[in-house]
This record gives sequence, structure tokens and C-alpha cells, in this order.
Amino acid sequence: MAAQSSQSLFLAALAGAAAALAARALVRRLRVALRLHGLDKAQLLAERRRHFCAAQSISYANTDPLLIVSGHGATLVDEAGRRFLDTRNNVAHVGHAHPAVAAAVAEQVATLNTNTRYLHPNVCALAKKLLATMPAPLSDGVVFFVNSGSEANDLAVRLARAFNPRSELTLVVDHAYHGHTITALGLSPYKFEHRSFKGKGKPSWVTKCPAPDTYRGPHRGADAGARYAEPVVAACEAACAGGGGGVCAFFIESGMSVAGVIMPPDGYLAACYHAVRAAGGVCIADEVQTGMGRFGTSWWGFEQQRVVPDIVTMGKCCGNGMPLAAVVCTRAVSDAFATGPEYFNTFGGNPVCAAAGLAVFETIANENLRARATATGTFLREALAALAGEPAGVLLGDVRGCGLFMGIEFVRDRESRQPATAETSFICSRLKDVHRILTSIDGPHDNVLVVKPPLCFGEPEARRLVGALRCELIALASVDLTKVSHTPT
Ligand code: PMP
Repeated sequence: MAAQSSQSLFLAALAGAAAALAARALVRRLRVALRLHGLDKAQLLAERRRHFCAAQSISYANTDPLLIVSGHGATLVDEAGRRFLDTRNNVAHVGHAHPAVAAAVAEQVATLNTNTRYLHPNVCALAKKLLATMPAPLSDGVVFFVNSGSEANDLAVRLARAFNPRSELTLVVDHAYHGHTITALGLSPYKFEHRSFKGKGKPSWVTKCPAPDTYRGPHRGADAGARYAEPVVAACEAACAGGGGGVCAFFIESGMSVAGVIMPPDGYLAACYHAVRAAGGVCIADEVQTGMGRFGTSWWGFEQQRVVPDIVTMGKCCGNGMPLAAVVCTRAVSDAFATGPEYFNTFGGNPVCAAAGLAVFETIANENLRARATATGTFLREALAALAGEPAGVLLGDVRGCGLFMGIEFVRDRESRQPATAETSFICSRLKDVHRILTSIDGPHDNVLVVKPPLCFGEPEARRLVGALRCELIALASVDLTKVSHTPT
């Protein structure tokens, strides 16, 4: 009896504490909202334009840029209280402002935040968690924590050069993006081929190979993997001919995002990896956009190709918005680097960001988000395939991707595959303005809607997206596209 009453007292106290916490969270949100109340979006836009370089673009700049003040799950809320369904922010991996991440960060930042020259349990626990997701021999490898995907790729180049000091030759694929530092830019045809570089953007140590695009490229059949690997194999052989130093590294995104969701065909990576390793180089998987369960039940995109890289880089989603990125490499690669100068990174893997990373792992497990990404991705793909079969869906040329990493390519004609660029722009704008759905456009022809939402995005959200798409595909029939301007995203 006594035990029962003390148990109910305890439960009542617990309920009271939970109510107090919820009330405090509500007050905090209200305070933030009040602080923003009355802010004039036009003034903010003018200030932004005054104080920032025009190269720092804003989404929907040509129509109505967004002032987002809060978020939760796959929803973003603007200053007027309008709620938008977010299909594009892959940084908020487990959902915007996730309470578990917020609590972990708040607790750690109120306790200690300093660099990794001191021992700290967070960074070690996070390294262990990360390595446990990797196949052998990476699972017995080494982790470097950094602050961004660009830094991760920059460091990957250094690791590769330490591993094969005889060559700096780095193979990348067309339309790839690996980051914004000068080194990462040099790995990114998406950037270095910009007209402003007048054809001189590619560094001498980089060789560009064709993107393994099975929809638009020359090889579309069952042998596409082998055929796209041929130029990589040839570059490796040429690098070794006549006593050359071979290859330093081969970089590729496990699913090419800004290229318009190009998925390497079966056998492609295995053939490339074989040639690169035979030429003394290392194979680097850029998982900045594709890792941590975005592809669904597999943790990493490269697993789909049944290969194991020597170096894996990741960023974006690792800290759910906190600056946390990482490089994982084999012990052999790490050993070659260990003889060089000290590696110190002031902020990389600090206790606060590591706390965020641990909370991300916990939330993925607690909310079963990898299985959810698989289930929602399958549902969405099937719903889009059905839409493509409807009269309104003739513009849908291709739907591709894995889990919650999906590209919807719009074409004017399925035979010629002429890109439906203006139509894609129209759809993207209308999804935002009419349906309050945020999407992004990518691909060299700006005709691919890329869907990469927080992993809590579920079936109801997928249904809403497909319904809105159907509605706008029907609306397109009566639109004068010459009056539609391109939507920068
Ligand atoms: N690699 C890929 C595949 C990316 O998409 C990005 C960013 N979009 C980066 C690297 C660079 O990451 P960050 O912006 O964090 O430097």
C-alpha cells in the first residue's frame, strides 16, 4: 500500500515536472516569436543584400524569400505563422529543432565546450558509434572530427596524398560537388566549370571522368557500370604508364546530389575501386548528403554497391545542424598520415557538437528512422510511378534514388528527354506558394526536383507532396511558360 502511494506520488511529481518543462518550452517559443514579431521581411532582405555578397544566394529570391523562425519535424514556420512542409533540408536529419538534440546540446554547452586536446567521453563515444556503422576494415579504422563537409573532403585529400606521396592525381566525376574550400572546389566540376573561371577552374592535379548517368548519359543498359568505369580504368593505367606515380585518389558521392541524383550503376564502383587501388590510390566516398541512414536501412550509400572505401567523408546531418562533420579512414591510411605534422582542429568534434552527434544516433535508433526512410521512400517512389502513368504525369521522365534521397526528373518528351526546365521552375515555385511545400531544383539542366527531407518525413507527408505535384502538373497545361522565371534554390 505504502509502496503504491509512493509510486503514485512519484508519478505525479514526474507529470508535474513534464508539464513545467512543456510550459517553459512554450514560453521560450513565444518569447522568440515576440522578438521577431513586427520584423519587416523587405527590410531584412535589403539588409541582407547590403551586407552580404551577391554570391551568397537566398532561396526563392526572385519571388518571395522566406523568413523562417522555427521548425519541428519536417515543418518550417515563417514569421507570419505559415507552416511549410520541408522536403529539402537534409541537415535536420532527425527533424528540425529535435528536442533530444536540443537538450543534449543545451546540457553540454552549459557544462563545458573546449577543444579535443583534452580527453572527453563525448568524442570517444561518438567515434565508437560511428565506427560501429562501418564495414571492416573501416570499422577498425580511425575518425577525424571536423566542422563541415568541405573540411572533411579537404582532409581526405591530405590523407590520400600521405598514403601515396608519389602522385597527386585525383579522379573526380563530372557535375560532382565536394565543397567550397579551394581544394574541395578543385574536386567539384559543378563549381570549377562555372563560366567565371573561363575554363581554367580545374586544378592540374585533377582529372575529370564522365558522370555515371544512366538516364541522360551514353550508357543506359545492363553494362552501364562497366562502360562508365572504362575512363576511370584508362586514367589509372595512363597514370602508371612509363613508371608514373599512379593515382592518388578517386572521389565520388555515393549518390550525386547537385548533379540531379545520379546513382552509380551496379558494378561501377567495384570496377573503379579495383583500378584505383591497382594504381596505388585510395577510394573516397563522399557521404555528406547520403550517409547516416538517408538511403534507408543501410547506414552508408556505398553499401549499395558492395564496396568498402578507404576513406569516408560525412557532414551535414551528423549534428542535425550543429557544425559536425567527420572523416573515417582505414588504419593503413591513418598510419601514413600519422608521421606528418600534428593535426589540430580548434572546433572539430568539441564536446557540444559531439553531444549533438550522439543525440542524432540515439534518435535514429529510438525513432527507427532508417526503416522509416526505406518505407517512406518506397511509398513515395510507388506513388510517383503511379502519377507518371496518369495523363498529367507525362512530364515525369525519371524517378530515382534510394530511401529518402530522391530525384524527380522532368522532361518535355520521354523519348528525346528534352529537359523541362521552365516547367520544373514553375512547379517548384507553385509548390511553395500554393501548397506550402519546400523543394529544391538540381541537375545540370535545372530540371530535377531533389527530395531529401528530414528522416521523420512519413507517408502522410509523401502523399501531400504527390497530391500537390499532381495538381501543379495539371495546372501547367494552361500556363504561359515564357512568363515563368527561373527559381534559384
Ligand atoms: N560534399 C557534398 C556531396 C555536398 O553536397 C556538400 C554540401 N552541399 C559538401 C560536400 C560540402 O559540405 P559543407 O557545405 O558542409 O562544407
